Amino acid sequence: PTVNTYASINPATGEHIAEFPTLTDAEVQDVLAHSAAAYSSWKQTPVRERASVLQRAADLHRERTEELAAILTLEMGKPISEARAEVALVAAIYEYYAQNGEQFLEDEKLDFKGEGEAIVRTEPIGPVVGIMPWNFPYYQVARFAAPNLVLGNTVIVKHARNCPQAALAIQSVLHDAGLPRDAYLNAFATSGQVADMIADRRTQGVSLTGSEKAGAAVAEVAGRNLKKYVLELGGADPFIVLSDADLDKAVTDAVRGRMYNGGQACTASKRFIVVDDVYDEFTRRFLQAMAGQKPGDPTDPATTFGPLASRASVEELQELVDDAVSQGAAATTGGNVPGGRGAFFPATVLTGVKPGMRAYTEELFGPVAVVYPATSTQEAIELANDSPFGLASSIYTADVDRARELAKQIEAGMVWINSISRSAPDLPFGGIKRSGVGRELARFGLGEFANKKLVRIP
Ligand code: NAP
Repeated sequence: PTVNTYASINPATGEHIAEFPTLTDAEVQDVLAHSAAAYSSWKQTPVRERASVLQRAADLHRERTEELAAILTLEMGKPISEARAEVALVAAIYEYYAQNGEQFLEDEKLDFKGEGEAIVRTEPIGPVVGIMPWNFPYYQVARFAAPNLVLGNTVIVKHARNCPQAALAIQSVLHDAGLPRDAYLNAFATSGQVADMIADRRTQGVSLTGSEKAGAAVAEVAGRNLKKYVLELGGADPFIVLSDADLDKAVTDAVRGRMYNGGQACTASKRFIVVDDVYDEFTRRFLQAMAGQKPGDPTDPATTFGPLASRASVEELQELVDDAVSQGAAATTGGNVPGGRGAFFPATVLTGVKPGMRAYTEELFGPVAVVYPATSTQEAIELANDSPFGLASSIYTADVDRARELAKQIEAGMVWINSISRSAPDLPFGGIKRSGVGRELARFGLGEFANKKLVRIP
């Protein structure tokens, strides 16, 4: 693929499947004009009608599960069972906003000092731009599109370059669900064109899910143009194991938390921080379980671990592992990876990672776990917080009340007790520190690009 194309490449085989040209600048202007025109009628469409379109979108996702799931497996190598699960979650997100949209958008009567009435309305603001990554191609878009569409905003999506077929499939589902064509527009745009869209007077906000680098670039353009932004960036989520934890459950969850989606999840468990008393036992069992993870054909329903999304991902991960090992860390890898041109990477556990190594501070976006010992619970918390990121986190302990208290000390947008992080339509999602700005899903996701309009009648 060149800089001017979006390309589908099967990461399991390296096979080039399809290429799509990027838009011309004139086409970008058309997208903006159409989205703005659609906004003037979509915002006036009764909420109930907007919600029924989303319900139909949910139903269509369910009807088309096989076809939609196959695209994910083909383009980014997600095991087919996980691809089906992603489609099911996405259907649930559209359905959630279909069923709750009306209630979320009801006027709020304020309790205030003074005579008369004060009401806060939740109104749309205009066309909003979404910039999305390839790791959960449908889910990332649904988190952004569903609340904004029910609110009455129109949506323009610039998806990742390596999942153009998924990007087009989303647009088809929404159009087939009865959404006015221009209320959701896919744009195969370049970064420069994205900047033009953000700067354009017709757009009112931008939401990006992706890396810190892309987030900073987009926030800079948004800031210069005084546009609201939401950023869902990386994570290096801690998984804390205290001495009274159920180790069977902790080990099973640790493997799942690290390996789901080939480890390519922002909220994957990445740093396993284990208190001394149980460190040896946990590490022995965890290493054994990780060694048993064998990557395979993602189209096989029995496969739970497929290739990474691209050769570039493999190279980036290898660099981080090599950097740690060259400075004294130890790497234990699992079974052999399939040969050929596929983007396979073995399940790997790093121990002996220290400050100064890239793996200590950077996000490992693939099947590489780092295990750290901690001399006490307090040290475990300090180590957990010694990260530029603050997305999700997990604490394993038999003492749930204590964990509730410890959760206050954890610098993260989400804390899970005796569980790995699992996204759901009705749970807010987002981070602090370099993991981003703002929240998606639940009621919170509907407030980000809304005008909370005061109507005061003294
Ligand atoms: P990425 O390289 O940042 O790409 C994400 C999106 O941003 C793509 O559509 C990309 O387009 C676009 N982009 C990159 N630079 C841009 C720029 N200067 N201007 C406009 N758009 C730009 O991230 P990725 O490698 O696809 O995804 C992995 C990252 O996403 C990880 O850090 C992960 O943790 C994070 N993530 C976060 C969440 C969350 O909710 N917090 C969820 C999932 C993933 P191109 O494809 O054209 O480069």
